Amino acid sequence: MSEITITEKSTDVKPLDRYSYSKISCYKQCPFKFKLKYEDKNYLFSANIATDFGSLVHSIEEDIAYAIQNVQPINYIVLKNKFILECRKIAQKYPIDFFNQDKSGRTYQEKMYLYLNSSIYRLENFMQQHPELKIVGIEQKFEYDYDGVHSFSGSIDRAFQNIITGEIIIQDIKTWSVPAQNSELKAPLQFAVYMMAAEKLWGVPFNKIKCEYDLPLCDTTQAALSEDIVSDSKPVLDKLFKGIQQENFKPTITALCHWCEYNPLTNPCILDTKPEAVCPYFSTWQKSGDNVRDTLIAWKDLSSVAIDRQFCISQLRQQMTNIN
Ligand code: SF4
Repeated sequence: MSEITITEKSTDVKPLDRYSYSKISCYKQCPFKFKLKYEDKNYLFSANIATDFGSLVHSIEEDIAYAIQNVQPINYIVLKNKFILECRKIAQKYPIDFFNQDKSGRTYQEKMYLYLNSSIYRLENFMQQHPELKIVGIEQKFEYDYDGVHSFSGSIDRAFQNIITGEIIIQDIKTWSVPAQNSELKAPLQFAVYMMAAEKLWGVPFNKIKCEYDLPLCDTTQAALSEDIVSDSKPVLDKLFKGIQQENFKPTITALCHWCEYNPLTNPCILDTKPEAVCPYFSTWQKSGDNVRDTLIAWKDLSSVAIDRQFCISQLRQQMTNIN
């Protein structure tokens, strides 16, 4: 894995506040979650079948890309054995989820066979159909100064360069079961962060950088829909940084609370293991029909958090005692 560090370090200047795409998108999703995670440094391990399966596919795709880049044969037998072995571990870890249908109507077992039988060959086929492209980045690490105060770091799944035009194509691999809606493809912040990195990594202007999601399980790619992703995204990024600087950590209550690791309703073990990380403002939404705006405790301001948390914990403990 190659690494290019763009930021020059100096002992005289204040170090930049380091951000990744996931860190800034956490603030965008819910400022209070950002506070719990990055300001209060409550890092909770939160794996699920989607992230485990996604990491596995990423690692196989990485091996294939390295073989192509190094003009070596792709050992599909070894890769498929690795994939099957790891899928078995995932099935043991998530015995119910592995055999449950998702919104596409497919189970993870079916996705496993789909990947083994066809998706695994996508990158090799793509490269054969596009002899004008070469792979220039695989899990390409980057770090750059965004605005003199913040830096962005991360890694790009893979990048191709057109050897005739010099154009860069950035691909982010997603193991989504269904393609994204058009509204999700309008100036994704992730692509803006990657484009600014690509400009510095490969010295290519923005108008020669294209970004797309590669969806192996849907046998397609989806490009971002904006003409000018960076210009469209910068005001959004600047607004998010301003909100953080002003300590605006008001929670955003949505159905996503259901999957939030700081929600004691769906992750009750934190009541005992990490009570200081409990979010008291979660939506009580559990299934379609529930009102996503329903909460146990309403947000007031930051000075009320400790009392609200204490009250929330005592209420939930009481409920658990009553059930038992
Ligand atoms: S439970 Fe909801 S409101 Fe609380 S931190 Fe998580 S996403 Fe934010």
